[in-house]
Amino acid sequence: MASLPIKPDPYYQDERVSGKRSRATEVTGAAAPVLSYRDENFTDEVARATQPAWEKLHDLMPDVEWLLKAPLVHKINRLKRERRAIILAHNYQAPEIFYGVADFTGDSLELARRAAALSEDGAPIAVMCGGNFMAWTVKVLAPARRVLIPDVQAGCSLAESISAADVRLLKERYLGAPVVTYVNTSAEVKAESDICCTSANALEIVVAAARAFKSKRVVFLPDHYLAMNVAAQTPIEIIAWRGTCMVHERFTVQQIRDLREQFPGVRVLVHPEAPPEVCAVADFVGSTSGMIKDVGLSHANKVVMVTECSMADNVAAANPGVQFVRPCVLCPHMQRITLQKILACLETLQPEVKIAPEVAARARRPIERMLELSSRFKSQAAKATLD
Ligand code: SF4
Repeated sequence: MASLPIKPDPYYQDERVSGKRSRATEVTGAAAPVLSYRDENFTDEVARATQPAWEKLHDLMPDVEWLLKAPLVHKINRLKRERRAIILAHNYQAPEIFYGVADFTGDSLELARRAAALSEDGAPIAVMCGGNFMAWTVKVLAPARRVLIPDVQAGCSLAESISAADVRLLKERYLGAPVVTYVNTSAEVKAESDICCTSANALEIVVAAARAFKSKRVVFLPDHYLAMNVAAQTPIEIIAWRGTCMVHERFTVQQIRDLREQFPGVRVLVHPEAPPEVCAVADFVGSTSGMIKDVGLSHANKVVMVTECSMADNVAAANPGVQFVRPCVLCPHMQRITLQKILACLETLQPEVKIAPEVAARARRPIERMLELSSRFKSQAAKATLD
């Protein structure tokens, strides 16, 4: 990647007021009691019902682990049907959740789209297996649906780096510049923003926002590295925050060099939340869904995914012919979601996410703008392909 025209924002260092979360976003209900694995048995019925999941998982866990997990998978799937609930799981969820109980999987943009498209009558309950900001996004897009999160402590270092008060101060400071906010943020922060973006569409959204506001600069929140990676691809001035993803910031150029030396010919896929110098030595830089597509399209037989390592497990299970090298960094937030907590959450219908209606209404606009723009990008890309 080329030079980085990004400017550090002195406001960040001098005047930051982060950390004051309002009461607009709440989670009600105590944490549900969590079952022990010993409470369930691996019966013939469990074996039959969970066979399709086991076919995906058998290379990822020992048999003895599946004997403990399969009864929970079976119980969750039964209860899910009884409750008419859907389970949404982010690509970083553990494989037994991703392949065992999820109805929909994907990156945050795909899950947001699903949540917006599904009828609330058909599926009145959604269980979000991912960061709590994803559950807030589902609630914002589908306010009539009951939205549950198995562990409210499943946060995100990016979402926690910025508050709505920070955004209001930035807007005063950079009058006229559109505020583009990554989906990894609270509903209150989104409510103060002009448009949301994900790692899959960040560059296109920045360009579209600058054009719509007739502005030469854009405030981009809160991921500093994603901002730098976008800034390297556009002349638009990017005003960045200093949030980072605690998983992707840990990767280094030296690690990539070592991997290339150890595994000659390996294709290196990097998430754009990683530092720009790491992205610069990658073969492909893109969102989690972009990486999944690249594995199929590139026909590489040896791949390293420089991202959260449950994701590499999930992609490896779907691509048995590809050798995956795994520099494992787990997201401690994502790993808080477990089968036991999902089951407890379905049994008690707690903890439930609630958002003040006026905040939800304001947070919905920037997300809907992003969804509308990204479908437009998609149809333009399809047209360009046909042309
Ligand atoms: S992997 Fe990074 S961006 Fe994703 S939830 Fe964890 S801390 Fe947040």
